[in-house]
Amino acid sequence: MSDKSKITTNAGCPVGKGQYENSQTVGSRGPVLLQDFFLHEKMAQFNRERIPERIVHAKGGGAFGKFVVTHDITQYSRAKIFAEIGKETKMFARFSTVGGERGSADTERDPRGFALKFYTEDGNWDLVGNNTPVFFIKDAKKFPDFIHTQKRDPKTHYKSPTMMWDFWSLNPESLHQVLILMSDRGTPDGFRHMHGFGSHTFSMVNDKNERVYVKFHHRTQQGIKNFDGPTADKMRGIDPDHSQRDLVESIERNEFPRWTMYIQVMTEAQTKEFPWNPFDVTKTWSQKEYPLIEYGYFELNQIPENFFRDVEQAAFAPTNVVDGIGFSPDKMLQGRIFAYPDAHRYRIGTNFEQLPVNRCPYMTTNYHRDGAMRFDDNGGSAPNYYPNSFDGHYEDENYQGEPYQLDDATVGYFDRNATDKGDEDHYTQPGILFDQVMDDHAKQNTINNIVGAMSGIDGPKKDEIVMRQLCHWFRVSPRLGAGIAQGLGVDVSEFMPK
Ligand code: NDP
Repeated sequence: MSDKSKITTNAGCPVGKGQYENSQTVGSRGPVLLQDFFLHEKMAQFNRERIPERIVHAKGGGAFGKFVVTHDITQYSRAKIFAEIGKETKMFARFSTVGGERGSADTERDPRGFALKFYTEDGNWDLVGNNTPVFFIKDAKKFPDFIHTQKRDPKTHYKSPTMMWDFWSLNPESLHQVLILMSDRGTPDGFRHMHGFGSHTFSMVNDKNERVYVKFHHRTQQGIKNFDGPTADKMRGIDPDHSQRDLVESIERNEFPRWTMYIQVMTEAQTKEFPWNPFDVTKTWSQKEYPLIEYGYFELNQIPENFFRDVEQAAFAPTNVVDGIGFSPDKMLQGRIFAYPDAHRYRIGTNFEQLPVNRCPYMTTNYHRDGAMRFDDNGGSAPNYYPNSFDGHYEDENYQGEPYQLDDATVGYFDRNATDKGDEDHYTQPGILFDQVMDDHAKQNTINNIVGAMSGIDGPKKDEIVMRQLCHWFRVSPRLGAGIAQGLGVDVSEFMPK
């Protein structure tokens, strides 16, 4: 349909005059006809407008912007995003309250979510933190219980101070965060006037493969501004969308908010001397002992044209790190690495990474396929499995994943076939089965069955695949290999012992 101002159905057919607002009826007062399919389409679409709201961080706002490197931290990280001073990377940020529903007030006393997504050429890097450097609990296993206490009483459906303080008093690890929450930083005046933190300990790896542990800090250039308790309470009624309005209006006035970005760095050796567990998210690292090291800033300069498309469907996950940035043994972080993508698959669907705001603008290549709402080329006609003999795709040798030491153990991706004694022997036991267990009748039937199955191999890689598999059969049993080769009409005389 070329005329874009004509109203159409979802299938692109024009909606006729008088048909957009009036249902089709038998006579002007008559009953509505089932054949008015545009009526069904309108109502059915409306019924499905809401996707599940986020269980936590349901109310929030977001903006696109840029990250700019101002200082060199390549001695700590080889991540391409930090490669040179002046380098700019497109990004998206979402701020939120935590406990309230999608319509709740922006000035509630609550931590604020502070989620950043950087579209780097090595894939998307998500730094999904809060406006506080610590958290209430240190193990993700406690999270569902904790969040229940921040939501509503199961009977009255009120918020319940009893539930909250019951949980906190039974979990004194929450004290540090509760103290910050009860200070005026628990009611910030909008999203622009608060610091952000990665909160967890992460790691960085440089191009010499040296690993350090880091904490991320983003300090507001707008200055800290908070409401005191009574003013925050009042603002809930005056403007429940205060933070969102402040963000949108400042960007529309071309007052682009900025945050200066820092890391704190701890060496492996220092982690052993630290008086607390350096991977415990209820603890900070003193800025006096581990000073802030500046590396860049980010600026938010574009409000999405459509809130639902880019903010409601935004999906951040601490899972998304890039080469040069890694995890730490922080138990909360480890739990979130699972929980966030799982939540997105439930809330938005298995192909959530394809939505524009989540999509890596660079190439993504793998063998995941299908699922609801798959709308890229879905891999086209290319192979949908790995390894294969066709597409030449490979795992990047230079990409992170080098083993590293944690206490006395090595953390790594171990190929057990290559490292564990006996695991690389795939031949002895099938050989015993064929040579010593099967009688002649079973042997011949098995050979016939394999010949029948392998006869179906076709295409440009036929010889390569047949020969590779024949080699395996020969290693299992020369008699088995020879029988199959003969059945397939493959001349293997040159491989046979003379
Ligand atoms: P510093 O004096 O170097 O830092 C104190 C930090 O506290 C500053 O970042 C300051 O932010 C921040 N702060 C001030 N008031 C509040 C508040 N109501 N809620 C949260 N943060 C606040 O000391 P240390 O680094 O040795 O830390 C001392 C204590 O400060 C820690 O035990 C921790 O409770 C808190 N803190 C520490 C942080 C860290 O990463 N080390 C980060 C934030 C808080 P600003 O500069 O904007 O005033």
